[in-house]
Amino acid sequence: MSPAICFEVLTLFPGIFDGFLSESVLKGALATQKIEVRLHNMRDWATDKHAKMDDRPFGGGPGMLLKVDRVVPCVEEVRHRQKSGRLIMFTPQGRCFNQILAEELATEQRIIMLCGRYEGFDERVAEILNPEEISMGDYILNGGEVAAMAVIESVMRLVPGVLGDENSNRLDSFSAGNRILDCAHYTRPRDFRGFAVPEILLNGNHAEIDQWRKNNSLQRTKEKRPDLLVETAAGNSPLNAETLFSQISITKNKK
Ligand code: SAM
Repeated sequence: MSPAICFEVLTLFPGIFDGFLSESVLKGALATQKIEVRLHNMRDWATDKHAKMDDRPFGGGPGMLLKVDRVVPCVEEVRHRQKSGRLIMFTPQGRCFNQILAEELATEQRIIMLCGRYEGFDERVAEILNPEEISMGDYILNGGEVAAMAVIESVMRLVPGVLGDENSNRLDSFSAGNRILDCAHYTRPRDFRGFAVPEILLNGNHAEIDQWRKNNSLQRTKEKRPDLLVETAAGNSPLNAETLFSQISITKNKK
């Protein structure tokens, strides 16, 4: 069986991924070839003896920039090894990454991710390659590697067979089954330091448990992330609250 999705990462620091790729769910998904991750050290494309990838910005100013004549040939070569593929460049100025985008990317067979470092890329890298620019949020990381890891983790969870229970990701917060927050969950012991599990979850009545979960999910979204309900009402989500509740009742108690 060939992997459902191949992530290709272009980075100056492939060693950052060592531990990430060798633990837990990701390790299993790689071992069973449900997904594939290929790391490319951009320095391998440097032609000078010092493998220089960065240079000072024209006009002065702090920091160094990734050189257009190093980055572009390396991305082009990797990109054209196969026909299909979506090219992502990590930048704080791109489209903000979220679950909807993760779900969209999970339908791809190949995702190529370009990780910046230092002060970022010479502007001509984007002008020439026309990548999809993606941001991890309104804060600054040292490089795109952590962003690439976040994309790999969130997308691979959506690949069929990677998680044990096919339904387990549908009702995660923000996900396609609801687009709001997940409900509260409890496990043993029933009572800890006087904090008891809600009685209703113990009574075995699945219809009542289902209703409690729907209400809890909606209630905590109202309290913690009311913006998600506004987005749903405005049609920015594929499902409205009514559909959401019918979906929850189908899937939550399926076990
Ligand atoms: N000077 C750039 C700016 O202010 O927009 C920031 C450069 S940052 C220190 C170096 C690299 O880290 C970026 O080129 C990008 O690849 C990555 N990076 C940093 N923050 C990021 C974010 N919020 N989302 C995606 N990538 C980010």
